[in-house]
Amino acid sequence: MLSLDEKSKTTDQNASPERVSELILVVEDDVALQTLIERCLTKTGHRTVGAADGASALACLDRCSPRLMLLDYSLPDMHGKQLLEQIESRGKHVPFVVATGHGSESVAVEMMKRGAYDYLVKGATFMKLLPAVVDRALERVRQAERLAEAEEQLRQAHEELEQRVRQRTAELAEANQRLRVEMDERRRAEDQVHRHQAELAHVARLSTVGEMVAELAHELNQPLSAICSYAQACKRLLQGDGRNRIDELSASLNQVSEQAERAAGIIRRLRRFVTKAKPFQAVLDLNAMIRDVAELMSIDARMAQTEVVFQFTEPLPPIVGDRIQIEQVFVNLMRNAFEALRESDHESPRLIIRTSLDGRGHIIVDLQDNGVGIPPEMVDRVFDRFFTTKPDGMGMGLSISQSIIENHEGRLWVTQAPGRGTIFHFSLPIDTGEHRRAD
Ligand code: ADP
Repeated sequence: MLSLDEKSKTTDQNASPERVSELILVVEDDVALQTLIERCLTKTGHRTVGAADGASALACLDRCSPRLMLLDYSLPDMHGKQLLEQIESRGKHVPFVVATGHGSESVAVEMMKRGAYDYLVKGATFMKLLPAVVDRALERVRQAERLAEAEEQLRQAHEELEQRVRQRTAELAEANQRLRVEMDERRRAEDQVHRHQAELAHVARLSTVGEMVAELAHELNQPLSAICSYAQACKRLLQGDGRNRIDELSASLNQVSEQAERAAGIIRRLRRFVTKAKPFQAVLDLNAMIRDVAELMSIDARMAQTEVVFQFTEPLPPIVGDRIQIEQVFVNLMRNAFEALRESDHESPRLIIRTSLDGRGHIIVDLQDNGVGIPPEMVDRVFDRFFTTKPDGMGMGLSISQSIIENHEGRLWVTQAPGRGTIFHFSLPIDTGEHRRAD
């Protein structure tokens, strides 16, 4: 029999005022016992709804949501186990306490395994134990609900955290992408600067060669005139009685070939110097490079009547850089020194080129002249573009040299030489082998 009316809307007078009245479904086919149970529970402050069989219990569950079900295991239409299965198949869940007949404790054990909150054995103590068992079960239901709530909060917090992590990861990926784009742009800009620099170095070389043309003509003239004289000497020897002159002829021909080689050497150096090359990183020996450039500039040195003195640290560790560009730095600095020496009236003009190690992974090169020097008020401006004190100067040499050295992770600076003259210094990092590893 189904009694859908709740037997008590309010709590018993004795029930504690703060206790919330909770609805309990009493499934019991013994109508008298059901009434007794409901009365007992109402007294302890609960509301009840009764059902006398499984079908009625299911119908009741469709209409209301009891907090607890007191379930008599043996019902006329189905067992407690079947009722639970049907409740479950309807997608519902009701916490329950099972009531079994005396001697059916094994049923109670089985129902506990299926999730019963407690069990009661119908017997002498049944009604006495009922309120405490129901209260205890309800407390456990509340605890389970609180736990489920806490778990839900935890799950939400976890989800929120995951969401934030996903968002932050996406932001970082975006920032990474932006950084990559910026780095690409920067690399492109740097490449452009390097190309520009190579162009400038090339222009500066051509202008150096332009200025050297007269001296070069003179330099080439010497071996060419020598070749002419030796060739004429050979001709004369061949026209005369050549029998005893074979040794002289051979010596003259040797001279012809030696002088031709000398002229070819001058042309070769010149061609290498004006070659337009792309920036190229190579392992370089600065001492050898200084000797090469000094050889090329020997005409300028002669014109300035300057003695070039090498004070090298040897052996010098290698550096990595663009040969053409670094040679250009030497050409610029040496040419400036020769010009400063030409302007001065020093009786023994001298350019000292020194290489040393700074003990912190750099090679230091000093070019010290005893020329006119730089007035203190101009020292800060000599590296500015277009700054020149020469009537036909371009004011580009030092600024190009500075950016070449800085691009090679070095530094170019100037100091006054003791006494008179100027020292230009630059540093370049020693090759650590990374360059070759990167290849
Ligand atoms: P430019 O040689 O065309 O003038 P640079 O940039 O090479 O251009 O040099 C700028 C200026 O720095 C020169 O005009 C000169 O006044 C000064 N300078 C450079 N090197 C020396 C030096 N060794 N001694 C004295 N002055 C120098």
